[in-house]
Amino acid sequence: MVTLTNPVSLLIDDAVSTVTRMKPYRFAGQEAACNLCGSPSHDQVGSRDRYGWKLRIVLCTRCGLVYANPLPTEVEVDAFYARHYRKLYHNAYEPKPKAIFRAFKGAKGRYGYLEPILDRGTRILDVGSGGGEVVHHFRERGIDAHGVEPNQGFAEYSIEAYGIPVHVSGWQNAQIEPESFDIVTANHVVEHFRTPFQALVRFRDWLKPDGYLHISVPDVYSPQRTPYGRFHFAHLYYFDRESLIMMGLKAGFEVSERLPGRSTTVVFRKTTTPAADWFRYPENYDKLAGYFRDYTNLKYFLSRKPYSRWFRRMGRLGGEMFQANFAAGNLDREKK
Ligand SMILES: [Zn+2]
Repeated sequence: MVTLTNPVSLLIDDAVSTVTRMKPYRFAGQEAACNLCGSPSHDQVGSRDRYGWKLRIVLCTRCGLVYANPLPTEVEVDAFYARHYRKLYHNAYEPKPKAIFRAFKGAKGRYGYLEPILDRGTRILDVGSGGGEVVHHFRERGIDAHGVEPNQGFAEYSIEAYGIPVHVSGWQNAQIEPESFDIVTANHVVEHFRTPFQALVRFRDWLKPDGYLHISVPDVYSPQRTPYGRFHFAHLYYFDRESLIMMGLKAGFEVSERLPGRSTTVVFRKTTTPAADWFRYPENYDKLAGYFRDYTNLKYFLSRKPYSRWFRRMGRLGGEMFQANFAAGNLDREKK
């Protein structure tokens, strides 16, 4: 179903998806306590997302976890991901050539990153498998990869296009055998969940003893990025490395010595029992409170960063246009 893409349609795609992305995630929500430490105490650090939609973001004064509060209810989250999310976010029920190209590039990157812990026959589960590119790419290399994807359109596309095993379900209802995987990977997924801690506990159940959990989320502590772009209506949680590690420790993991990762990419290792002393970074709240206080939009625009960023973005778009055409041509040929 891949069609050859010309540069003009790619530019139009980009513009259309920018406009449709701006539709908000409407939820009534509920007041929530911190998902990591349970404290109800917080500071408000944001009132709007990057598109200007109302979104109240708070910082837990105990552990430094940043989250949307009120949080959407379970029903609101499920409805959003089952039907609307991919459409809003990527303007498609099926992945488009540019998205497929980016996803395959990401899949190669993830394979390279995890290679030190992969063997032939390793059983790996990709949570939020989307269009299936990661699962497909790993299977092509002899890895026993599976997916879980709540969006029906994307999950069915991935099953048909690549013939890969995908559970069409959210993580809560997925019928997955306990202790059946060597690795669980979740790339830019748990920040969308309503209860990421409970998700990590579930991932741990799916892992064999000593199994690995690879998690990557956006880093909220990123002084090189635009302050106004920090928050996104679909992201309910915002981690720094410390809060992500504490959540992993509390859920029954330790940071892998072999692949510790950096920033908010962490490879965890399943431990026999969750660590009672998971609260390892008591200074995390102060660090983030200072960051939100000091790092303002005004400071950002007085620096050189916004201007060099624009040039990088134009360069990247040009490169992708060329490569997406090339990839689409290749895929077409493969199908014939
Ligand atoms: Zn907390």
